[in-house]
Amino acid sequence: GMNRFSTATAAVEEPISPPVQINYTKLLINGQFVDSASGKTFPTLDPRTGEVIAHVAEGDTEDINRAVSAARKAFDEGPWPKMPAYERARVLLRFADLVEKHSDELAALETWDNGKTYEQAAKAELPTFVRIFHYYAGWADKIHGLTVPADGAHHVQILHEPIGVAGQIIPWNFPLLMFAWKIGPALATGNTVVLKTAEQTPLTALYVAKLFHEAGLPPGVLNVISGYGPTAGAALASHMDVDKLAFTGSTDTGKIVLELAAKSNLKPVTLELGGKSPFIVCEDADIDKAVEEAHFALFFNQGQCCCAGSRTFVHERVYDEFLEKAKARALRRTVGDPFRKGVEQGPQIDSEQFDKVLRYIRSGVDSNATLECGGERIGSKGFFIQPTVFSNVQDNMLIAKDEIFGPVQSILKFKDLDEVIRRANATRYGLAAGVYTKNIDTANTLSRGLRAGTVWINCFDVFDAAIPFGGYKMSGHGREKGFYSLQNYLQVKAVVTPLKNPAWL
Ligand code: NAD
Repeated sequence: GMNRFSTATAAVEEPISPPVQINYTKLLINGQFVDSASGKTFPTLDPRTGEVIAHVAEGDTEDINRAVSAARKAFDEGPWPKMPAYERARVLLRFADLVEKHSDELAALETWDNGKTYEQAAKAELPTFVRIFHYYAGWADKIHGLTVPADGAHHVQILHEPIGVAGQIIPWNFPLLMFAWKIGPALATGNTVVLKTAEQTPLTALYVAKLFHEAGLPPGVLNVISGYGPTAGAALASHMDVDKLAFTGSTDTGKIVLELAAKSNLKPVTLELGGKSPFIVCEDADIDKAVEEAHFALFFNQGQCCCAGSRTFVHERVYDEFLEKAKARALRRTVGDPFRKGVEQGPQIDSEQFDKVLRYIRSGVDSNATLECGGERIGSKGFFIQPTVFSNVQDNMLIAKDEIFGPVQSILKFKDLDEVIRRANATRYGLAAGVYTKNIDTANTLSRGLRAGTVWINCFDVFDAAIPFGGYKMSGHGREKGFYSLQNYLQVKAVVTPLKNPAWL
């Protein structure tokens, strides 16, 4: 009933004043904050109210051109790719220290621009951000090539060189973490970057880019352009002087940028796209833990996760118990002002996502899934949606097929392992999967059978910097984080020299 959400309603009416100021709203090109070439700006909104937080310089083709020129010059003539790798590592470590020092303000800015809870931003995302830069600083001076004996008549050196100017396009759901996943490996390997932020969340990347320059990053190495996708994003993806493109966002946009890259200079592209990840609860699972984990797997970050566990498959023997507890858990979820302590769920990012989630809820009802709880907006301002649970969901329903990207859990029933593997894999996506079981054989059968880039067993959303992340099928190309992401930013050069009378190969 309404009581449960009284906090949220009050919060929507009287938003808590964010404990941070907005100092950076211009484009960062060649180490300077500058207006856009057109002089245009665009508003970024507070998802709690839909009101304007700030007007931000709107980058377009000409700004991308300027930024790519700066990155090109910094790569071809600047110190960054040529300096001792441990000096690059020291810049990354100094940067991580500065971010740690400013993490309360950064968390507040992230919450204000995105709507995620301040607790999540401050206690989970900022420490993870710092950890990612420590991790890649550690790699910087441990990246090297090989020598190979080859045919015995030649000395063959295999050099690992930076690839050049990287273009990076990131989404709005984790603005700071997506910055870190992309910038960490690109800079550790000596590349220069032009990064385009999502139009919904331009603020924190500008702030941390400022800190990067305080940490001693040479001008032109990192350029940050705020702006829209079809303008600034497309200009970056199709630029002839960009040597590599990394994209995170929707599968539809992933197809567009891959095509733009192919039609321009064939730059290699890594893609981290959508998902419809299964979360499988076996009959022997600890049901209370599985309920809590499945809830977290879906509702975390307002359900706005590419790897959200958005198909909860539950074994028929434990289905009724699970459903009752999952519904009770969703009804207990606290929704409200994300700055308020103890609030678990803030607003969706914007009106477009809000409308889309409500449309999917209607489609679930229309297709005769059982709406167990939720389904409505909360308050009259901002983009708050009730935690929603559907049971009796069938594989062919839209809510079981499409990425909803909102607080909507779909619960499906299964009978045996072969069946659940087949149904879990019957999707065009393959980003992640969750499994709850106490049986090691069941865990092994599922982890080998599921076609997904990550399988979490008796856990979910564990995102250490060292663990590679990425998708099978239409969830993307390549891996981010871990050792694997370094490959995205390295060229391989074979240098071959004749060997005359070698003592050894
Ligand atoms: P999107 O793919 O449109 O946006 C992601 C990024 O791509 C943004 O920076 C955007 O400006 C840019 N972009 C958009 N069109 C572009 C173009 N033509 N050329 C170059 N760049 C372009 O995603 P969205 O509209 O913000 O969200 C739509 C859906 O995408 C969501 O509902 C969700 O399903 C999915 N999504 C997935 C992730 C993820 O982490 N995989 C993140 C955000 C959204």
